[in-house]
Amino acid sequence: MLLIITGQRPMTEARNTVHNTDIVIIGGGIAGLWLLNRLCNTGYNAVLLESKALGSDQTVASQGMIHGGIKYTLGGALTGASEAIADMPDHWRRCLAGEGDVNLSGARILSDHFYLWSSASVTSRFTTFVASKATRGRVDPVSRDARPPLLDHPRFKGNLYKLVDMVLDVPSVVKALAGNYRHRIYLIDWQHTTLHRNTNGVISLESHGSHESLLLNGRSFIFSAGQGNEELLNVVGATSPQMQLRPLQQVMVWHRNPHTFYGHCLGTDTTPRLTISSHPMADGAQVWYLGGSLAEKGASQTAQEVIKAAKVELAELMPWVDLSQARWATLPVQRAEPRQRNFARPDKAFATWVEGCDNLIAAWPTKLTLSPNLATEVLGLLDEKGIGPSGEQAPVINLPAPPLAETPWQEAFGNTDEDA
Ligand SMILES: Cc1cc2nc3c(=O)[nH]c(=O)nc-3n(C[C@H](O)[C@H](O)[C@H](O)COP(=O)(O)OP(=O)(O)OC[C@H]3O[C@@H](n4cnc5c(N)ncnc54)[C@H](O)[C@@H]3O)c2cc1C
Repeated sequence: MLLIITGQRPMTEARNTVHNTDIVIIGGGIAGLWLLNRLCNTGYNAVLLESKALGSDQTVASQGMIHGGIKYTLGGALTGASEAIADMPDHWRRCLAGEGDVNLSGARILSDHFYLWSSASVTSRFTTFVASKATRGRVDPVSRDARPPLLDHPRFKGNLYKLVDMVLDVPSVVKALAGNYRHRIYLIDWQHTTLHRNTNGVISLESHGSHESLLLNGRSFIFSAGQGNEELLNVVGATSPQMQLRPLQQVMVWHRNPHTFYGHCLGTDTTPRLTISSHPMADGAQVWYLGGSLAEKGASQTAQEVIKAAKVELAELMPWVDLSQARWATLPVQRAEPRQRNFARPDKAFATWVEGCDNLIAAWPTKLTLSPNLATEVLGLLDEKGIGPSGEQAPVINLPAPPLAETPWQEAFGNTDEDA
């Protein structure tokens, strides 16, 4: 539970350590971890506080697609915001090569491309879209003899295109980002921690251990806690920015079919009808992780209903694939975003100074892909207020380190006995 005490901070007898730091980041998903790396690389002394495990909630539940936004232009013209996302795959590639503003050289690329394919019924709209200027030559048609093994079947119908965007093994991204600044990342227990906002709107944090209490001051606090931002903002008494949640129910298919696949199947909606990503399991099997419209509609269905719908989709789109030995599970999960008019999908990263608080930024990347963009936005906000790196050493805080989050498929299938 989070607490806020406004006005005069109460004196506690046990408080004996005061830490001053440039930046305190709360929330260790992709947004917080990327921010920590970018800020520290820029010379800030920053610390990150996580309440569960690094990458929890959305980050390790994502499909890991680092895309230039083409699927978001399916419904219309290229906007300014989708121009911002278009630069992101190259940005990530530089970081993965160890040559970017954040070092991701320890992270693993699952695929350096993914596919877009149309079911036969929407072929003509799809062909028109791919030929349009919105795709700007980043989508290549795949000839019959170059089809991926999964779709290389006489019964495959529709058109197939290849996007040069990539898919990452997200747990390895989390591990790499956390590993770069391990000594700046701490586990926070809100049962024993209090956020304060003083009469000037300055936020600070006080944590009470059994032997020691600590007070943490930051020239800026950043809330990057995904859906946890709402509660954090509430406790500091902020009424904006507001958040919206987009519920999904993803489907996970554990199987030993040898073919990995990463791609979107386009249906009649602007959201892909089905998105498939493939994730390796320690036992040599793989999990196909299914999203898109299936998961959006699935949010209001039972697990059994959405699994049934997934079986129907796969049987219709790739009837030659034998999934009779597969195991099925679902993941209800919510995308957390800054609130938009008409519940629209934001297509750029969001960060803002929080009104009524002097030193607080709230941030949502809105997509994994846009984390580099979010960090640039935050650096701009700090610069606006003249908050540059202080040159002071980062504090060493007497708190434990958080673990790395398990993936949903490890949780669902990781400990099952195949012969059970
Ligand atoms: C099913 C799914 C698939 C997706 N696929 C893609 C994709 O392929 N490509 C893409 O670009 N985007 C994708 N996204 C979106 C992307 O995953 C999210 O935009 C991104 O992960 C959000 O990161 P975040 O760090 O803001 O939040 P989160 O990943 O939700 O992390 C929040 C962190 O804050 C911690 N926290 C919460 N409350 C507190 C608190 N009070 N104190 C301390 N810590 C706290 C949590 O434990 C967690 O570690 C997908 C999202 C979903 C749900």
